[in-house]
Amino acid sequence: MLIGFDIGGTKIEVCVLDECGNTCFKTRTTTPKKYPLFLETISALVVEAEIAVNHDFTHVGIGLPGTISPATGLMKNSNCTFINGHDLLSDLSNQLNKPVYIANDANCLALSEAIDGAGEKGRLVFGAILGTGCGGGIVFNKILWEGANALGGEWGHNPLPNFSPLKDGEPRSCYCGKENCIEQFISGTGLEITYNALAQSSLNASDIIAAKRNGDATALSAYHLLIDQMARSFAALINMMDPDIIVIGGGLSNVEEIYEDIPIQIRHYIFGNELKTEFKKAEYGDSSGIRGAARLAKATN
Ligand SMILES: [Zn+2]
Repeated sequence: MLIGFDIGGTKIEVCVLDECGNTCFKTRTTTPKKYPLFLETISALVVEAEIAVNHDFTHVGIGLPGTISPATGLMKNSNCTFINGHDLLSDLSNQLNKPVYIANDANCLALSEAIDGAGEKGRLVFGAILGTGCGGGIVFNKILWEGANALGGEWGHNPLPNFSPLKDGEPRSCYCGKENCIEQFISGTGLEITYNALAQSSLNASDIIAAKRNGDATALSAYHLLIDQMARSFAALINMMDPDIIVIGGGLSNVEEIYEDIPIQIRHYIFGNELKTEFKKAEYGDSSGIRGAARLAKATN
């Protein structure tokens, strides 16, 4: 049996998968905002899970926002800011007296979907989370490719290809310090910025999609721009790494029409104009991250 954690700014979720990948235990709690209490909470949840399934886990997998700096070994770039600057891997391993594996949530989604989800039949799978932001992960032959800088899949912070103020509007600053990052456009947040600038409103992404489906002209043009921006971004990715399957998770993955519209639009941008890469919705949805975290031990390079 395998144990995985999904850690976010508001909640910590833990699950246990059996040998067939079925969930046999799951619980959640509020994320403590202080580091020592955070470590204690994780430990207590491991013990609770071990008692519940009557199994002593050999290791623990954790998916969270942020990365371990390859240079220092310390956590960085997490919106759970209280873990930044800490040696979370060593601290947790020592506290639990077990090996611990940590990856960011987009890498965990990519891994989960490549192992037994929508990307199962692909050799090279790219997983993208298009939600508040835009994360990504690369899995090759069921092995997560984190990379020399732990930046594998962080395509959301590449500049949007062919950015043009005429087409894309005002330049957008990203929290990473760069301008016009892909994340600022092809995310729920990006769609909201596009639509609300055109309509002088403050709708959220799901309201904008509902308006588009009701034939609202402004929502339709914001959606068409989003599809064009997605096509440009994914074409650049395909020209570079040419994955068999691109699995999409996050809020925008629930907009079913994108799976028809992206492949049509992408032919304008991809080298050679032909496309075999499949675009698929994450099979395990919000549970993908935690399922990937549980499998980290076998699947990290
Ligand atoms: Zn950025």
